[in-house]
Amino acid sequence: MFSVRNSTLGPLTALAACVFVALCGAWIAMGQELPERSGPATPSDLRVFDPTLIDKSIDPCENFYRYSCNGWFKRNPLPADQTRYGRFDELHELNRLHLRQILEAAADAHPETRTPNEQKIGDYYASCIDTATIDKLGLKPLQPELDRIAALQSVGDLPAALAHLHRIGVNVFFGIGSGQDFTDASQVIPFYSAGGLGLPERDYYTRTDAKSVEQRKQYVDHVRKMFVLAGESDAQAAKDADTVLALETRLAKASLTVTEQRNPQNLNHPTDVAALAKVLSHFSLPDYAAAAKAPGSGKINDLEPKFFDEFNALLADTPIDQIKTYLRWHLLHAYAPLGLPEPFDKETWNFYSHILNGAEQEQERWKRCTSRIDFELMDALGQAYVAKYFPPEAKQQALNMTIAIEQAMGKDIDSLEWMSAETKARAKEKLHTVMNKIGYPDKWRDYSKLEIIHGDALGNQERAREFEFARDLAKIGKPPDKSEWQISPPTVDAYYDPQQNNINFPAGILQPPFFSDKEDDAANYGDMGSTIGHELTHGFDDEGRQFDKDGNLKDWWTKEDGQKFNDRAQCMVKQYDSIEIVPGVHLNGKLTLGENLADLGGLWLAWLSWLDKAEAAHLDMNAKLDGYTPAQRFWIAYAQQWCTQTRPEQLRTQAQTNPHSPDEYRTNTVLQDLPEFGKSFNCKKDAKMLSPNPCRVW
Ligand SMILES: [Zn+2]
Repeated sequence: MFSVRNSTLGPLTALAACVFVALCGAWIAMGQELPERSGPATPSDLRVFDPTLIDKSIDPCENFYRYSCNGWFKRNPLPADQTRYGRFDELHELNRLHLRQILEAAADAHPETRTPNEQKIGDYYASCIDTATIDKLGLKPLQPELDRIAALQSVGDLPAALAHLHRIGVNVFFGIGSGQDFTDASQVIPFYSAGGLGLPERDYYTRTDAKSVEQRKQYVDHVRKMFVLAGESDAQAAKDADTVLALETRLAKASLTVTEQRNPQNLNHPTDVAALAKVLSHFSLPDYAAAAKAPGSGKINDLEPKFFDEFNALLADTPIDQIKTYLRWHLLHAYAPLGLPEPFDKETWNFYSHILNGAEQEQERWKRCTSRIDFELMDALGQAYVAKYFPPEAKQQALNMTIAIEQAMGKDIDSLEWMSAETKARAKEKLHTVMNKIGYPDKWRDYSKLEIIHGDALGNQERAREFEFARDLAKIGKPPDKSEWQISPPTVDAYYDPQQNNINFPAGILQPPFFSDKEDDAANYGDMGSTIGHELTHGFDDEGRQFDKDGNLKDWWTKEDGQKFNDRAQCMVKQYDSIEIVPGVHLNGKLTLGENLADLGGLWLAWLSWLDKAEAAHLDMNAKLDGYTPAQRFWIAYAQQWCTQTRPEQLRTQAQTNPHSPDEYRTNTVLQDLPEFGKSFNCKKDAKMLSPNPCRVW
């Protein structure tokens, strides 16, 4: 699957304290005595603006993040099973508890009274948490797949084998999915993408610093242990693990970096099946397409031509036994969590969650099974969630706020001094075409063709992945479905889709601590309003601005305005490049540019929109509530959405792979660029929270 997605948070599972402790020893000594919380938050713990979290011993003009969040940090020690824990995770855990109740009820319901969807989510869940059966079965459920790989005789057998592995969700060599043609967004065509790596990103294979070298050794050790668990001798497993690293390193070197992948121009290589088939002289693309049930002719996008050249070269000079070793590793890797016996599951956790991201304890099984179903059967579970937890009023309120923020953006574009009237007209045209999607899909996905069998945990995973693979490819040749959602309704996140030009806010995020009808506008606009503004600004960030109102990759800027945008954006690239996140690792200003632009632009739009609303309501800007003026409440609510504790290992991974800046900088660095913030707290000119040379684009 391919999508250009700009979410607020990024994958929740991947994103976290000692670095915080190091930066803010003050919170241990702060005045307020709030009890540490054990167990998940309850709805009453979650407020959009919470004065009890504020640390008055900190000067808001020196470190606003600590000022706004220290109380939360004190109250919420980082749980052992989390690599980061913030307000998004707080709500995510509460939602997950609600989903668990739905799943348990579906699992326990009488078979004759269940709806088809209840049967599927209930039996998937019951099978997933049944570790006794999974442990007893051992590798047996995966044996047919292992046999299939073992039987491969030559690279001539690979097209059908890879198609089969791709169908069941195994990430080997490359990927295929549907995507909107970059140059004609009304067409859905096959996208062939680079893939096949076991480490998080291509640079993990090439960096030469001591930590990266150590991580590669730990990776090889992990692959070796997985082969031993699968029955290989120690010597064979060690040899095979080296083979895996060598093969993946070749693929990695031919792949784009995460930063390069952010520029859609680097991914736009329209061609057709016949032309790519010619490039792949050692791989029958028609055979592959037939086995994958993908089109055997017609237009495609070859996202990374250099990668496919290398894939072809690799097939020519790599013995089939080495390729089989590589396939076997990825098969084990794909099914180890939740599908294979405990030792596989633990070993996978140890490398990916503990070593790479610093988790101290594995998440309980029910949590992981619940998240898996939320991902693989998203609408079957999401439909039940929405019926129980998303009141229609919340949808209407969120929509009203979205419209208000879109109006503010229109005014903001009009007021820009650096942009010509010509580009302004196009920008507003694009703005007026943005489609607002709130809560959940109008039309739920139909799972009637998906079979879920009680007691068959691994088989359920296989069939769910096959179902999704087929569902995705079935979109090819049809007009794009703009009503479709890329994330599930309970997700605590939001996104902008540049090819569909729509903003998406699922039910999961439209509740406290991000949004509440019991709080004043200042709090709601500072928090949820800034998120709405963030997603909207993505349509006009360094990536989104390259797409026109119809989602085509087409330059609608005058040359001069494009240059002015880039000059202004460069100010932010430098600003974030200078931030050292853990010793020796800096933020990547180019990788995070789109998100940083969206953070700054989004907060500014929320502020303008709220000011309009306050003026219309004749709000007394000096009247204090809970001891704070309306403007102060706006900024504090903004900061409090980002209270997050993060493990240093996770910070390193985030800086190297994630386009989002860590939450501390999403607060302080953004506010430093907004002098209006400083005015609300009467900050002195030389205060740390006031940048002497603020960056500003939107
Ligand atoms: Zn974003």
